[in-house]
Amino acid sequence: MITDRGIMVKCKNCGASVGSNELVLDLDYEMMVCPECVKQKKQSKDIHEEINKEREEHKLKIHMDDDRKPKERISRGSRHL
Ligand SMILES: [Zn+2]
Repeated sequence: MITDRGIMVKCKNCGASVGSNELVLDLDYEMMVCPECVKQKKQSKDIHEEINKEREEHKLKIHMDDDRKPKERISRGSRHL
């Protein structure tokens, strides 16, 4: 079947039929995959990165809170007075 997206081919990763023009050579899969597979791969990567970020931010927050709390109390107190 030939469409304006090229010849319909099956994605080697998920088996979905997509236009050959839409297939992309993915370095992680090391094969031609459809945009959906690329999206899903990015999403799962993002989730991992977000978890790592959250962990790092959580660590930072603990450190920052130690420094900030006394300062905030002083500035808040001076505003009220
Ligand atoms: Zn696919």
